[in-house]
Amino acid sequence: MSTDALHSTHSQKVVKVLKFGGTSVGSAEALERLVGIVSAEEMGSRPLLVVSALSGVTDWLHALETETHRKRQQVWMRKLVRRHQALSAEVLDHERHGRYLNRLSECIDLLRDTLRRPPGPMRSHVIWASGEWMSAPLVALILERHGVSSEWVDARRLIRVVESASGSWVVDRNKTRAQTESWYRRLPAGRVPVITGFLGAEENGQVVTLGRGGSDYSASLIAEAVGASKFDRWTDVDGLYTADPRKNEQAGRFLYLLLEDATTWNEANQLGMHAHAFEPVLHACIPVHVRSTRHPQGDGTLILPARLPKRVEKDARELMNRTRAAI
Ligand code: ASP
Ligand code: MG
Repeated sequence: MSTDALHSTHSQKVVKVLKFGGTSVGSAEALERLVGIVSAEEMGSRPLLVVSALSGVTDWLHALETETHRKRQQVWMRKLVRRHQALSAEVLDHERHGRYLNRLSECIDLLRDTLRRPPGPMRSHVIWASGEWMSAPLVALILERHGVSSEWVDARRLIRVVESASGSWVVDRNKTRAQTESWYRRLPAGRVPVITGFLGAEENGQVVTLGRGGSDYSASLIAEAVGASKFDRWTDVDGLYTADPRKNEQAGRFLYLLLEDATTWNEANQLGMHAHAFEPVLHACIPVHVRSTRHPQGDGTLILPARLPKRVEKDARELMNRTRAAI
């Protein structure tokens, strides 16, 4: 299927949310593929990107957060700095690399200060969020280097989190929608935003992370808020499978799924995604397309709402017919 199979109008650019997970931003090759995908998308649609931390980085930050030994903390810090320095040197030109290093040192300074704070949830959230604070500026700069006008966006401005009566944090969907809409209205046409996944903020700006795998939830919330036509979930596996295809040869790929079913299965923890990942897109009837950056032309898995919006009906029918013909 073409990258624009669901793009049914030609007169007006459709809005799409493109989420890239850790492996899709974690190496120079992955970032090159990302640039190719976004450049192609940009011609026919208005993409908004949501990105995870570089692969493995959130795990490192979790280790750093629980580490009490100062020397070992320093070892983790060095690992973080080196990884981001090396990757940015590989993919950016001299001038942009300098700009990125300034951003990186701001993140590292904040991490150092935060590590000195007494343990507590606020300390933890700042540490965990740092991965996305380091990845989104890098992605925006590499896009810019390849001629795509881009800026990174701290999702603290967009996603509002409140403490529930039970002491856990939940996303305030109405506030999130209002904040995101008003930000989006002011975004210059032609600018591709690169939004940090995984995090939001309380009213006072204090960062709160959304739980592991939370970038899918972020992307889904943003897709709902801006009224996106589609949510492309780019990863390194070409769709959703009945079992982990890396471990089980018998695993079969779903060509298409009902969003209602995907939501139920995911809530029962059968799809391995963030528990709330599909809620906002289900509410807004937005199709989700799980795709691999390694095979951008592949079909992936298309997850369609039962109440299909008019604009995607024709393309969905074509895809289903094609699938039937193949069987
Ligand atoms: N970086 C976070 C994690 O690894 C969020 C995400 O990737 O969705 O859990
Ligand atoms: Mg991830």
